[in-house]
Amino acid sequence: MWPNLAAGGLIVLFFGLFLFLSGLPFGFVIMLAGPIMFVAGLLLPDSPPVRPLDPTLKYCRFCLNEIPLDAKICPECGLPPD
Ligand SMILES: [Zn+2]
Repeated sequence: MWPNLAAGGLIVLFFGLFLFLSGLPFGFVIMLAGPIMFVAGLLLPDSPPVRPLDPTLKYCRFCLNEIPLDAKICPECGLPPD
């Protein structure tokens, strides 16, 4: 599931509906793209998490450096990696 894609699909749907009801061109096409995005966001499988080749390491989510798996503070940027 891709929740951001599903939420974006709802936003596109309502924006397309607004354009369609306002009589502006291409509103209907944009309104059709919203449900496609929403359904794709619900049905697409999650991508597998990215892991370093060494199983004792993980990536810091802030600086993307490889750090030890049990690190509470990233030695590169000083922020908590989880
Ligand atoms: Zn870091």
